[in-house]
Amino acid sequence: MSSILTDHQKMYSNGRWVEAISGQYIEVMNPATGEVIGSVPAGDRPDAAAAIDAADKAFKPWAGKTPQERSDYLYKTYEKLVERADEIAAILTAEQGKPLQEAKGEVLFAAEYFRWYSEEAKRVYGETIPAPTPAKRLMVIRQPIGVVVAITPWNFPALMIARKIAPALAAGCPIVLKPAELTPLTAIAIFQIFEEVGFPAGVANLVTGVGSVLGPEFLENIKVKKITFTGSTAVGKYLLKGSADQMKKVSLELGGHAPFIVFDDADIDAAVEACIISKFRNAGQTCICSNRIFIQDPILGLFSEKLAEQVKKLKMGNGSAEGVDVGPLIDERALNKVHEHVQDAVAKGAKLVTGGSKWKADSLDGSFYLPTILRDVDDSMLICHEETFGPVAPLISFSTEEEVLEKANNSNYGLASYVFTNDLGRAFRVSEGLESGMVGVNDPLPTVAQSLFIGWKESGVGYEGGKYGMDQYLEMKYISMLLNG
Ligand code: NAP
Repeated sequence: MSSILTDHQKMYSNGRWVEAISGQYIEVMNPATGEVIGSVPAGDRPDAAAAIDAADKAFKPWAGKTPQERSDYLYKTYEKLVERADEIAAILTAEQGKPLQEAKGEVLFAAEYFRWYSEEAKRVYGETIPAPTPAKRLMVIRQPIGVVVAITPWNFPALMIARKIAPALAAGCPIVLKPAELTPLTAIAIFQIFEEVGFPAGVANLVTGVGSVLGPEFLENIKVKKITFTGSTAVGKYLLKGSADQMKKVSLELGGHAPFIVFDDADIDAAVEACIISKFRNAGQTCICSNRIFIQDPILGLFSEKLAEQVKKLKMGNGSAEGVDVGPLIDERALNKVHEHVQDAVAKGAKLVTGGSKWKADSLDGSFYLPTILRDVDDSMLICHEETFGPVAPLISFSTEEEVLEKANNSNYGLASYVFTNDLGRAFRVSEGLESGMVGVNDPLPTVAQSLFIGWKESGVGYEGGKYGMDQYLEMKYISMLLNG
């Protein structure tokens, strides 16, 4: 597996490692060093079509396996992911940049989805319904939807794959994965595990390449019954519109702009620690990371001081180095966007508490941005509306519950929100009043394999995780039976 970081890699289609038909390939860079660390095939529409054909042929036999058989494949995948967590984490850090410990945490979390869905595979229950006449029997059963295309982003190269593929396979659907162009190597490591586990040919296929090239094949190929996507809202809208022609089923996990609300009755030290986790893990490149940090007036000064104290201790550097807390941003474009948000805020009156510039170490040619805190942020600034996707904490003051709910809900996004308070009534009122799919109450890390992941408004369509995640790969069927005599 370690050779993934030195050799050219192939993609996986119909149980074989293959090159793109065109012979073209894409280079993969390390965002911390700017070095090329590998290459993968640049798949085109015919490559995607071949993988979809293979998945289509594999559908009936895979769906026909017993739930226990499918469960066993998933459980073996879980075991191997745990066994190889260190190796895969090194690959993930090299192509994505996050610190090694975070990368290992991500791989183990991805493994959890395989374990959870290995169990859930056995619980695809139907229902019987009391009939209006003694001569009838009514029932609803659930059946796998068919070939699933999964399209994933670069910020969680292992986790986003697992959250889609594990429930799809558990439900009896074969999959074709298109990982992000910037982080295909982690996907290759996971598919090496699928090969070792011995999934039948065509059940799990990997097509590497450029999204805008492959997208039309996924949308127009009639054999694709479902597209599950995690990524930007703009691409999500394109896929939703494009799926309409064939009425393909679609799940979309999209961008976010999470409010992080701290009331003056909260445990301030715990809220500061939570803010560091929510804002600076993965260098702020998570869809659920806090993007607007609302602090109640009486504690604004104290919170800002304590946060600055902690932020200044964060160590920047190559994620593969010991003790690094904040790695690089994914690329130069991301770096420029973050700086633009900071400059725009400062130009409109925000005060820089710490950070506020790009960062260069002598030995590293990567895209680093200093962990940053801004005060006196208001609604007129870009940072209050667009995803920053970087290590910038904008502090906004508020005085009342009503005011902060109105400000927090003033967004087209509705993915995650966070509330910090020790008042139980307030915790309920604010959680229920927030227009978002997920709320962490005194909890900066609400996501678990066992529960729901869902975005409201322009943050998504459908959902993932827990028992709910299986629904997305199953169709319900109603059977009405008229008995003889
Ligand atoms: P992106 O640009 O939308 O890309 C996501 C995936 O879609 C990549 O594999 C990309 O391929 C592919 N793609 C791009 N254009 C396509 C097209 N026309 N047809 C089909 N596929 C296409 O997003 P990103 O920059 O990688 O990821 C960051 C975004 O993801 C942020 O907005 C973040 O909030 C969101 N996100 C959401 C969640 C969630 O669960 N809600 C989780 C993580 C991230 P290429 O790489 O080849 O462009």
